[in-house]
Amino acid sequence: MGTYSIQSLRESTEADLRLAVLGDPVDHSLSPSMQNAGLKCLHLPYRYGRLHVRPDDLAEAFDLLRKRDFIGWNLTLPHKLAALDLLDGLDPVAQRMRSVNTVVNQTGRLFGFNTDIAGFVAAINEAFDCSLSALRIAVIGAGGGAGQAIVRYLSELGIPSLILVNRSAAKIERLAEDLAGHSTTSIRIEGWDQLAGVCGEVDLIVNASSVGLGGETIDEGWSALEPRHLVLDMVYGPMETSLVRFARAKGARAADGLLMLLHQGVIAFEIWFGKPAPFDVMRTALWQAAGREK
Ligand code: NAP
Repeated sequence: MGTYSIQSLRESTEADLRLAVLGDPVDHSLSPSMQNAGLKCLHLPYRYGRLHVRPDDLAEAFDLLRKRDFIGWNLTLPHKLAALDLLDGLDPVAQRMRSVNTVVNQTGRLFGFNTDIAGFVAAINEAFDCSLSALRIAVIGAGGGAGQAIVRYLSELGIPSLILVNRSAAKIERLAEDLAGHSTTSIRIEGWDQLAGVCGEVDLIVNASSVGLGGETIDEGWSALEPRHLVLDMVYGPMETSLVRFARAKGARAADGLLMLLHQGVIAFEIWFGKPAPFDVMRTALWQAAGREK
């Protein structure tokens, strides 16, 4: 399936196109394979597409999708924070996490949900079979839309310690200030250049930055990874990400973002249609699209 621009969507006559993922970039997204398999399995007469939307065009895109009577849509980078200002209401999780990845169009009124958090928790459980609450955790890319939500969730959970790393320090400084005094979690900020030291102090490392999305090689700071570490790289692609490959070579347990994508997508499907999603069908389609065996 190709990618629509706002212009091509405006001119499109495909009435069944009623769901989409909006992002910049968005070509990498495997959500259409998973969601279209779910729609087909339940005989729902709709299609889910990819829509390339630049940050300046987000408000116009919301307007267009509302007018075209879309059922809903997902948001990927970099739109999860900006979407907050374009909605008529938020569910309690999106409200507390201040980040939206799923929108529902209820007769022209737009409501925002966050299914990333539930997807993240399910992915950690499935990949590592452990509970987050006792772990010392570093979130890399903690200032992004997904990263900020995960930081807010972990701080709400009251994990023992949380280290935030982000390219632009200002975003995580604001976030840490916002959270100060609201949690028992000890929260600290570090720079990318301190990655090796950060690894030494934590059990789980979450890469919530988009580094690796374009197949970039990893930072040398990761060389401090050890077999005791758990690594969740939220980035995914047809190939194993370089961080996952590297972490596994160091003996650490590592997973890429495919499991999280699956779980957040299944929950989004259930929000749109109010009925159980065909989990196994969506998983098989996603794994096939990613060229994985199981
Ligand atoms: P976003 O809001 O645009 O945030 C991007 C993050 O990446 C920011 O922290 C940004 O740092 C950082 N970044 C970008 N380029 C960088 C570079 N060259 N060096 C260092 N840091 C860099 O995006 P998002 O929506 O949070 O998504 C972030 C990533 O998580 C994406 O790859 C997305 O696909 C993935 N994700 C996956 C799932 C899943 O289900 N698997 C769910 C959500 C997100 P600055 O703040 O300094 O710009």
